[in-house]
Amino acid sequence: MIVVIDGPAGSGKSSTARAVAHELNIQYLDSGALYRAVTYLFLKSEQSLSTFFESLNSARLSFEFDNEFQVTLNEEDITSAIRDPKVSAHVSTIAAMPEVREFINTLMNNAVQYDVYIADGRDLGTAVFPNAEYKFFMIADLETRAKRRHEELSSKGLQMSYSEVLAEIKQRDQIDSTREKDPLKQADDAIVVDSSTLSFDEQVQYIVTRIKETITTE
Ligand code: C5P
Repeated sequence: MIVVIDGPAGSGKSSTARAVAHELNIQYLDSGALYRAVTYLFLKSEQSLSTFFESLNSARLSFEFDNEFQVTLNEEDITSAIRDPKVSAHVSTIAAMPEVREFINTLMNNAVQYDVYIADGRDLGTAVFPNAEYKFFMIADLETRAKRRHEELSSKGLQMSYSEVLAEIKQRDQIDSTREKDPLKQADDAIVVDSSTLSFDEQVQYIVTRIKETITTE
């Protein structure tokens, strides 16, 4: 079974999905982290596309949810490295490549067959898991999202000004929602959650309650 939360950068999907996973005792899948992992590989390939595609073909990418979402690439733990601003700056361009999307989608589809998952991303409800049992689409205004992301980066000691974060989020929104293959889009049957009008606990409980309600009325 799979539950998905899609939405733009900084809308609160990841932290909410993680908290829902803890509360319902299910697995969490951070699809953005997987696109970041592939972007890390691209940066390691010295940004040469032919070297990158060659290394993608033989890449061993795996993940595990144990309190946090951990990502391993070719036996290297890259959980922290994928949060580097350099990865954030390139990820939307790399994620727009059809070969990359196919690679990640295959990995995710294989993984979710054996457990109950909540996953967050951009196109999960529309393209990757169109038959997901529950679909949520999380939104928040641009300033709220940029402020959140800026605070998150500052708490990790990463130096980026608020206006740099705002510009980066705007640019990622633009690339993610206009790319040809599987753009960021709200599924017709998704439930919208506006995280700028709800507290963190409220949004987690809202989703947990909706999932539990549906389970008990089935
Ligand atoms: O969720 P996060 O902000 O870490 O995602 C990083 C990037 O990965 C997004 O900006 C987007 O370009 C890409 N992504 C995607 N499809 C998904 C999840 C993430 O294209 N399902």
